[in-house]
Amino acid sequence: MGEAAHSKPLKGEVALVTGASSGLGAQFARLLAGQGADVVIAARRVERLQMLAAELASGGANVLPVAMDVAEEASIQAAYDALQVGFGAPSIVVNNAGMNARGLAVEISAADFDQVFNVNVRGVFLVAREGARRMMAAKRPGRIVNIASMAALKVLPGLTAYCASKAAVAHMTKSLAREWARQNINVNAICPGYIETEINAEWLGEESGQKMIQGFPRRRVMPIEALDQALLYLVSPQSSHVTGAVLAVDDGQSL
Ligand code: NAP
Repeated sequence: MGEAAHSKPLKGEVALVTGASSGLGAQFARLLAGQGADVVIAARRVERLQMLAAELASGGANVLPVAMDVAEEASIQAAYDALQVGFGAPSIVVNNAGMNARGLAVEISAADFDQVFNVNVRGVFLVAREGARRMMAAKRPGRIVNIASMAALKVLPGLTAYCASKAAVAHMTKSLAREWARQNINVNAICPGYIETEINAEWLGEESGQKMIQGFPRRRVMPIEALDQALLYLVSPQSSHVTGAVLAVDDGQSL
């Protein structure tokens, strides 16, 4: 094996990262591109994707920014079409796009509840389904990594819709892993603990957010790169026998 293969172990892989316009998705895109994968970065805020694409391309990566609203099936289809034209069939899907709606259960509106499920559950399903269809059509083995949350494992007060949606993602991961096992598509989930990003920065800055952090075993949130090794493992040949796993990477926050 040459030096390039060592330093770029994902060369030849085609990865889609949803929700790549900020936070964890941008981090995952940088990580996979750095390992040599061709990376399609998707989200609604295309200007942000273009900035990230320019950054990655200047480092030598093959990267394609595409608009995708995971609440719209046609938009998912169109993004995969662009991926296919640019790079061929996908082999890695990081199903990361997600949102939150804060509010006590007695106060949250049906519209907010629906939107959380549209994006976090239906969106994750549709992105996984379309990825798997294309992997199967190309007879290409694949890795799908769903970004759930420690909220799938533990109740977070005031976040009923979010918690329920992430629990659904965790269980859907097992269901899809079972169904696609024979096609060599591994489906796994990562359940991260708190990492400060746009989804939670405001709340973490509030008194109640700070109080919550003090209740964690290590009294801290995690750095943005905390999930890197878990993601790399789940897309690497070393995890070929790992499918349907729901992996907490949460610094013990769910304990
Ligand atoms: P973030 O910075 O707010 O990023 C969320 C991403 O999702 C954005 O890129 C956003 O892009 C995208 N998105 C939202 N709605 C979308 C839609 N309808 N269609 C397409 N993309 C959409 O938050 P983050 O922390 O990186 O979150 C990433 C994932 O990690 C989420 O699933 C979140 O639930 C999960 N998570 C985060 C934490 C944490 O502590 N940060 C912990 C556990 C799990 P656009 O707005 O540009 O579309």
